Amino acid sequence: MFFKDKHCPTCGGSGTQVFTPLKPEERKALGTHRTDLWRCTAAGCRWYQPWGHRAGGGRLPEELQNPGADASV
Ligand SMILES: [Zn+2]
Repeated sequence: MFFKDKHCPTCGGSGTQVFTPLKPEERKALGTHRTDLWRCTAAGCRWYQPWGHRAGGGRLPEELQNPGADASV
């Protein structure tokens, strides 16, 4: 399950990114049990947000950053 019509505020640009629901370990790292949080799957991105809006979103800890071809950012 995923959706790909979301604009990611930390990826920037005019395109949209694919988002997937947070995994259990990601929710645990955030200290939340919410199941309506989604994350951006772009390489190097840590952005997550609630389903319908960016408010309440934020960045996951660095160790949960998506693997990226270029980790220099
Ligand atoms: Zn992103």
